[in-house]
Amino acid sequence: ELANRMAERVADVVKSLMQMGMMVTQNQTIDQDTAELIIEEFGHRIQRVSDSDVEDVIQTETDKAEDLKPRPPVITIMGHVDHGKTSLLDAIRKTKVTAGEAGGITQHIGAYQVTTESGAVLSFLDTPGHAAFTSMRSRGAQVTDIVVLVVAADDSVMPQTVEAINHAKAAKVPMIIAINKIDKHEANPTKVRTELLQHEVVVEAMSGEVQDVEVSAHTGQGLDELLEAIALQAEILELTANPDRAAQGAVIEAQLDVGRGPVATVLVQTGTLRQGDIFVVGEQYGRVRALVNDKGERVPEAGPSVPVEVLGLNGTPEAGDVLNVVETEAQAREIAEYRAQAAKDKRAAAGAATTLEQLMQKAKDDKDVSELPILVKADVQGSAEAIVQAMEKIGNDEVRVRVLHSGVGAITESDVGLAEASGAPVFGFNVRANAPARNSANQKGVEIRYYSVIYDLVDDVKAAASGLLSAEI
Ligand code: GDP
Repeated sequence: ELANRMAERVADVVKSLMQMGMMVTQNQTIDQDTAELIIEEFGHRIQRVSDSDVEDVIQTETDKAEDLKPRPPVITIMGHVDHGKTSLLDAIRKTKVTAGEAGGITQHIGAYQVTTESGAVLSFLDTPGHAAFTSMRSRGAQVTDIVVLVVAADDSVMPQTVEAINHAKAAKVPMIIAINKIDKHEANPTKVRTELLQHEVVVEAMSGEVQDVEVSAHTGQGLDELLEAIALQAEILELTANPDRAAQGAVIEAQLDVGRGPVATVLVQTGTLRQGDIFVVGEQYGRVRALVNDKGERVPEAGPSVPVEVLGLNGTPEAGDVLNVVETEAQAREIAEYRAQAAKDKRAAAGAATTLEQLMQKAKDDKDVSELPILVKADVQGSAEAIVQAMEKIGNDEVRVRVLHSGVGAITESDVGLAEASGAPVFGFNVRANAPARNSANQKGVEIRYYSVIYDLVDDVKAAASGLLSAEI
């Protein structure tokens, strides 16, 4: 490979390595320093691949206003377990996709598109819940434009409902409330609306801005209304993308298929992905051998907001990885290899969690007004509220503490996910992180701090904040 890049003979390179005392064969990997010595020895120029090169190759030029075309919204359904997320996704798919489709078979590829009565096209992510939403976001792929929050009318606003609200707010994604199971005789939608008020979600029925629709995934009642509400919200957002550029998309899901090799469902975000395109996706690369849509049909291309299965990968990427079309296979491979190496280096350096001070510094670098996002978990509601109140008092014009999420109970993986996505530390007050959360925090470098005295917690955050302030003078 090295000889090839230098346009030298392999034998000469191997000989030269041997003269340096390295007994290698032509397929052996050599380290970077050795490679550089060899390159110099042969009188060639060294060019290291770096982040900025990667960015150069992946054209990130901004689009001209006249090139932007409307695109469908991408919707994620969230809500508490058993409130009907899966049923709702199935009901929407069934009424809108299967009907009229020859054979009526839809493929589960991780996302699907429907057309509303009024002709609007909507793209639904088929993985309900905020775990997927957050893990995508933490990998830099914010694909969701609208969150549909499902609350069962025969139940209440539950912990995961609140989590979902906070996730949507942290991501600044608008919400639509679907009050589900309206067919049940014990359904009490008014109670749901009132409870939402306590979480600063004011629905239209309560003279607020958030659209709310009563639905039943079982009878189909309200489904069309829900879809039109989404279409209306999308119109307000004025979502656009440039279909005439090298495609970029996000991996929704990926797996190794026995018959087809690595397959990834990609939601195109901008540009148009075509058969034959060369691409890099996370640490993998490839050339599009075939594109398959949510109806299981082969398609020649996929434009913005369209989900497609991509065949022709060299390996299996991860959900949330970003796909970029590049010009040559050499570029694609180089970027993929660079990323794999960078990820390896990062893992080696991990273990050292990001400290409060570093997070503060980062907040400071990022914005005019520094904002330290935090998560709070406590043993009882009273403590959680007291901490949130104390935290919100810290700060002045330059620096502010923002509580992304607070709750009662152990620190979970979902908390760590949200913390990572937002660059926030997690504070546990008289609670610990469970084992999966601890592992996940170690891997992701998320800082978890434990306290049993509120004053200590407040003091630490204040110290970090004032450290930041004094550093600015
Ligand atoms: P998820 O955990 O949020 O995905 O919830 P599921 O979709 O699995 O639904 C949980 C339970 O509620 C299942 O037993 C569903 O059959 C039931 N369910 C969902 N939607 C409705 C509905 O609109 N009406 C009634 N009566 N039951 C529903």
